[in-house]
Amino acid sequence: MNYIVFDLEWNQSPNGKKYSHPQMPFEIIEIGAVRLDDSFQVTDTFHRLIRPSVYHWIHNSIRDVIHVNYRDLQSGVPFPEAARDFLDWCDYEYIFCTWGNQDVMEFQRNMDYYGMLHLLPPPVIYSNVQSLFGLQFDGEESCRSLEYATEFLHINKEMDFHRAMNDAMFTAQVLSHISLDILKMHPTLDVYQHPESKKEEIHLQFPSFSKYLSREFISREKAVKDREVTSTRCPLCGKNARRTVRWFTPNNRVYYSVSRCADHGAVAANMRIRKTADEMYFADKTIWMASGEDIDAIHRKRDAMKKKQGNCSDTEQLRK
Ligand SMILES: [Zn+2]
Repeated sequence: MNYIVFDLEWNQSPNGKKYSHPQMPFEIIEIGAVRLDDSFQVTDTFHRLIRPSVYHWIHNSIRDVIHVNYRDLQSGVPFPEAARDFLDWCDYEYIFCTWGNQDVMEFQRNMDYYGMLHLLPPPVIYSNVQSLFGLQFDGEESCRSLEYATEFLHINKEMDFHRAMNDAMFTAQVLSHISLDILKMHPTLDVYQHPESKKEEIHLQFPSFSKYLSREFISREKAVKDREVTSTRCPLCGKNARRTVRWFTPNNRVYYSVSRCADHGAVAANMRIRKTADEMYFADKTIWMASGEDIDAIHRKRDAMKKKQGNCSDTEQLRK
């Protein structure tokens, strides 16, 4: 297994959001990547500058941050060529790793614009090193900057931040400090290419947890009433686990529930209902074998919600 740690730099409309291309709000202008083997040793690097074709000047704020001139980019290659080279270079049996959740999405959005998304079929699974860093060193999915993480880990910072190659290199070094347990237990399932029909729904099975992306529904209410969306099967045996804490949401963003498998014990679940650009809704659910701590945390969330209920309308409990 190889880890492909990559970082992208992108440009946006130099004349402001109003003039943004709806299919391409962020045009990728640089790809930097590092390939690591399974002992986190660097085995190769990849770098391309990309000649823009949508925005013909660099937005001031972008130029100030990444120090790339429009003229520099004229020596780059067109995006489709860079993306193809990159995916060829990734080879096979790899997992993407990035700092944060935006790079994997923007890469797909740019591929989509050029009609080449079929080269990266779903499910697209990656490791969000920013969130892994938080889980390991802050005890929760915090959103630290890459610069903070390198300082925290005393990583040598002779290179500049905010150039694709350097940031990929820094991210790779942070990744090598993440425990294998945390890395394996927390893959991110990207939702850019989410299922439209029942047939395309994504069910992924890992050793002690499962992930599910539903098809689209016309409303949030329809989504949270669907049997498959609200089902909680034990990740170990696949049997329906009996609900002990009904689905609830303290914030209308994330829903939680607890169930019990007769053979394997407590099963926790969380679910986000996501909205598409076309105002459709789909569910993004994770179910895992829960520790006592996980269950306590969910109980605390529910108790806090109940306390709030009555004077606050943004909480909701489902009948299921
Ligand atoms: Zn079971």
